[in-house]
Amino acid sequence: MLAMRDRDLYAKLLCIEKPWFVREVDARLDSKEVEIHIGLSPRKRLACPECGVLCGRYDSRTRSWRHLDTMQYRTVLTADVPRVRCKEHGVKQVRVPWAEPGSRLTALFESLVIDWLKEASTSAVARMLRMSWDEVDGVMRRAVARGLARRESLPLRKIGVDETSFQKRHEYVTVVYDTERARVLEVLDGRKQEDLEDFFWSTPLEHISTIQSVSMDMWPAYINAVKRHIEDPDKKICFDRFHVAQHLGKGVNKVRSEETAELRSIGDKTLVGTRFLWLQNPERMNPQRRARFEELRSATFKVARAWAMKEVARGLWSYRTRGWAQRAWERLISWMSRSRLGPMRGVAKTLRKHLWGIINAIVLKATNADLESTNAKIQALKKRACGYRNRRRFRHAILFHCGDLQLHPQLTTHTQA
Ligand SMILES: [Zn+2]
Repeated sequence: MLAMRDRDLYAKLLCIEKPWFVREVDARLDSKEVEIHIGLSPRKRLACPECGVLCGRYDSRTRSWRHLDTMQYRTVLTADVPRVRCKEHGVKQVRVPWAEPGSRLTALFESLVIDWLKEASTSAVARMLRMSWDEVDGVMRRAVARGLARRESLPLRKIGVDETSFQKRHEYVTVVYDTERARVLEVLDGRKQEDLEDFFWSTPLEHISTIQSVSMDMWPAYINAVKRHIEDPDKKICFDRFHVAQHLGKGVNKVRSEETAELRSIGDKTLVGTRFLWLQNPERMNPQRRARFEELRSATFKVARAWAMKEVARGLWSYRTRGWAQRAWERLISWMSRSRLGPMRGVAKTLRKHLWGIINAIVLKATNADLESTNAKIQALKKRACGYRNRRRFRHAILFHCGDLQLHPQLTTHTQA
């Protein structure tokens, strides 16, 4: 009687429906495992999983799937799954309603792994759910493949392109963002022109032709790729605020390190250890730092002048008209190129050459704010995983977390058997 109730309970919990039924529940308390044997009504006529045509039973194979734990007990479903012989498709295993073909985990268990992967690293999930690293990685891989297959290709309007390194060594991938929908579209090998071109080649032309802006760094490989695939690139390529600020920041830093060395050679250590002061936004400094910084900034250091140029640039992004934006930036560029600060003159040259795209970014309001937060997420993933061993895994992780994909397997409540 008790056994009967167990079977009903498990059938309900597992959503096992006719013609499948729970044959037996085997609780092995000492090995902390529950095995649920599932049977299939012998009267049921079977269908080919490929074409649905009813056909004869060929044989059956015993299969097991890891399922959600019952209390603290590891729970496994076991069933003799019939194979059919279809005239057209040959010998095929029929589908079971609780798992996807080929998976050793039930759909509910895979969903649990996916939910945990959203919160923790692959190795942490493996430890917690008592799985191997490869099993967990397999769930992520299948989830991404499932999500990409379900994702419908949509017309693109605003996209962003950026490189990101995936190891301590200088190995890069190119991330393509749909900035309008705040999601990652694709992660491409390398950062060369042909890498980005792969994305354009594989996207339907009618979805590319709607693109209004492409945000990116002033990077010839990306510029050339866009020029080959998008009409009127001179009006659509946008060099975004984030990357322009990065170039200016590098210039300031170079001025600082040269000046620090110069002063040090005559015994003056005033600038030693000030690197981060010149990089941080003063509004975010604590009062103590701020006071120190204000003192340095008002002195006659070269780095203070370079910093002032960077600050002016920070305020030149809110123009509405092309003409005013153009004039304001040209004025800054003249200041920089007339200064005696070598690194800033170098940056000025880069900015002058790419001014057209900076102006595009301003008037098209192609900010990469969403892109930046996604990028921060990618950096956090990298840190959590202690780097990725290869591009494939890095791609999966980015698409899993930032691709806005429907990752979970669908539970089929009806059986095709
Ligand atoms: Zn068939």
